[in-house]
Amino acid sequence: MSRRLYILGCVTILLVLSMTACSSGNNNKNNNNNSTNNTSTPSSSPTSTPTSSPAISPPHNGELSLVQETEHGLFYSPDATEKVSDMIQTLANSFEANYPRIVGLFKYEPSGKTVVHVYSNKNQFQKMIGRSTEGTYVAEENIIKVYTPSSFSNQKNEDEYTFQVIHEFIHAVIQQINPAIGQVKFLDEGIAYYVSNQLEAELQTRTNFADIPTFEQLSSPEYFDKSGHEAYFFSGTIVRYISNKYGVDALNELIKNPEQIEQILNISLNQLYEQWSEDLRK
Ligand SMILES: [Zn+2]
Repeated sequence: MSRRLYILGCVTILLVLSMTACSSGNNNKNNNNNSTNNTSTPSSSPTSTPTSSPAISPPHNGELSLVQETEHGLFYSPDATEKVSDMIQTLANSFEANYPRIVGLFKYEPSGKTVVHVYSNKNQFQKMIGRSTEGTYVAEENIIKVYTPSSFSNQKNEDEYTFQVIHEFIHAVIQQINPAIGQVKFLDEGIAYYVSNQLEAELQTRTNFADIPTFEQLSSPEYFDKSGHEAYFFSGTIVRYISNKYGVDALNELIKNPEQIEQILNISLNQLYEQWSEDLRK
């Protein structure tokens, strides 16, 4: 009889343990939400802060498994094969190599580890995102989501996809500094394209600088949708021009107050446009 009770007790303990495990999974999910909220409102009450840096990283994020954890990043994927793990290792190395430079430049460090979802199936990725892109930063969730092929065809191909994670991380940092920067396309995309060094890589081979867009075009999301790559390139050159001529402090001011661009640079938008396009034609 007492033996039956003992077994019953063991089963009960196991049940309680497994229930606790389930609910801690849910808590982790909630913790993620909380930390997202903390990021957008850093001055929120200190009682909610312990959740922002969990001692143990959640092994799952929805349908995705944790494939790689680095000092500053958590990389999840729906596909945890060895091939995909190797590819994610490459992305993670590049992320860590660029991390200090980027947080130093913007003088801002994200409160927790950056969550990156890596998909190696393009159809699956684009279905999930709902548009034909290969990378995005989802500000509401504070998650970077990218498509990356499970193996790179050559060095150029590898650079393209490691650049992409860095590009999205820059969006994550500047949109955490000021969520409104996401609405100012030429600054948001230009900063990501310039600071990721994608612009520098393109400038090494590009010789054609014709078809410079107007300021109205650069300010409209439709131009970015329609002209695709060109919009990123030209936005990158404006940010590069601002950074070289007015300095990184001015660029950081612009991120915080993009509507005050004329006051911060002490120049009219028309003059800025003239100077930049002249510089580009040199
Ligand atoms: Zn972008």
